[in-house]
This record gives sequence, structure tokens and C-alpha cells, in this order.
Amino acid sequence: MTARTLSEIGEFGLIARLAKGIHLQKNIIKGIGDDAAVLPFTKEKHLLFTTDLLCAGVHFSAKENGRLVGRKALACSLSDIAAMGGVATSAVVSIGLPKTCRLRYVEDIYRGMNGLAKEFCVSIVGGDTIQSPCLIVNVALLGEVERSHLVLRSGAKAGDKIFVTGPLGRSFPTKKHLSFTPRLSEARKLVQSFKPSAMIDISDGLAADLGHILQESEKSAILDVTSIPLSKDATLDNALFDGEDFELLFTTSAGVAKKLFGQNALKVFCIGEIVRGPRKLFLRDNRGYLKALKPKGYTHF
Ligand SMILES: [Mg+2]
Repeated sequence: MTARTLSEIGEFGLIARLAKGIHLQKNIIKGIGDDAAVLPFTKEKHLLFTTDLLCAGVHFSAKENGRLVGRKALACSLSDIAAMGGVATSAVVSIGLPKTCRLRYVEDIYRGMNGLAKEFCVSIVGGDTIQSPCLIVNVALLGEVERSHLVLRSGAKAGDKIFVTGPLGRSFPTKKHLSFTPRLSEARKLVQSFKPSAMIDISDGLAADLGHILQESEKSAILDVTSIPLSKDATLDNALFDGEDFELLFTTSAGVAKKLFGQNALKVFCIGEIVRGPRKLFLRDNRGYLKALKPKGYTHF
């Protein structure tokens, strides 16, 4: 048998392989397979734990403004805590730097990160610095969530409505991927008043991230083409496949969805519904015709 390459199995094939048989103590509530791990904490709350690794030339241009790079490094992890319905608390930051990197640039990265940390009341409590052939930034972030407010990817039910918190597509050319506001306050409003059944943040693209909800919930979905909110100049394909929008994608029962339609406090867009059946994704056009869609999106390999 020939050795398989990473590009053959893809990022999620790789994660599935590595996760197989990985050691997990019995008290872990949710390990690999959601936006953050869920760990035992207090009587009322769970602890959330997530990490994101950013690399120059992959997640941002090597010439990018340092403040925006630092901001993005923390914002990606904040977005994952939001997707669990939680509140972020403290982070450790590790950074790999080429020898030639200017001190001013490194300080800018930390300034960008610190500004966002202040905004969301997150303490930066440690980390590591190493020399590296390319610039890499890793943020590991802790958060907490009331047990009753925890939202996993696995809770979507047939008949639920699907929502997003904002327009999608062209995050890279518009630089939204660097300057987005993590949807933490929206997530808190949602879990406190609207009980989402499943939630994820859109990092890999609407099609791929909805695919993760379908995978974990063992359901299928129909997206209404005309209801998907598009960013300026974005096409439907941009919205489905570009990724790094960092909007929340969530599902709620039809009853809760009605309450969401009738309120003004939270801007959300209903884009489709969850249906029975094993992990298939369909697009419905304006004449009601269905077309199967592959849940592809941004892939790292
Ligand atoms: Mg995520």
C-alpha cells in the first residue's frame, strides 16, 4: 500500500485519524470535535478550552500590519468560545519569530492582541517565545459557560431553523478575516434568551461548517439560496466556500425561531432548515428545486 499524503485525507481526515484512540479521562465532557473542549469545572459551570495557530503566509500575509495579526490571533479563539455559548476568561500566547523580525513588529502583535483582550475582559497570563523560520502565533484560551447554556454542534433536530449572524463571503479580499468582531455578546444573548440547539462559528465556510453540525447531529439540511446574506460583491459560492467570516451559524426549534423573527435586539438571518437523514446538504433555489451540495470549504492540506 502506498503511503497516503495529507492532501489526500484532508484536514478533517487527519483530525479524525489522530483523534482515534486518543487518551481521554472519563470526566471530560467533550473532547475533540467541537469549537472548544468542555471540561468539568464547578457545580454550575463548565470550563471551555480552545487553541488556534496562525502562520504567516497561510492565515495572514507576511507583510500584514502587526496589530491586525495579533488581534486576529486572539479573535479566532474568542470566536470559538462564542460558538459554545461561553464567556472567555484567560489566554496564554506562544509566538515563533524569525531572527530578522523587528522588535517593533512583535510589540505591535501584542498591542493588537491586548486591545481586544481588554475589550472582552480576557487576561493574558503567560506563553512562550521561540525562534522559528516563519512567524507563527498561537493563542490557547480558557472560557466558562453555565451548564444550562452550553451549546454543542451535535444538538440540531429535524425541523429546526438555521441562522447566521451576518453576511458571508470575501473575508480575505475585504480583510474582514483580520478585523472582525468575535460574536461573544450575540452568543450570550442567544443562549440566555433563545436556546440554540447547535452552534459553530464560520471559519471553514458556510457549507463546510454546516457540514460539521450535520456530521455531529446526524441530520441533513436545506439552505435557501435567496436567504443567504452576502457580503458586498460576494457571490453565492463566496458565501458557501470562502470561510473565515467568523459569524455564528446556529439552529433553533421552529418555535424559538418565531421569537427571533419578532425581536430587534439581535440581527440574525434565517437561511434554511434541518431535515431528517444522514448528513446531506441541499440548496433550494427560488423555484423550490433542490440541488445536492458537497460540504467543501477552506482546506489546509
Ligand atoms: Mg470554530
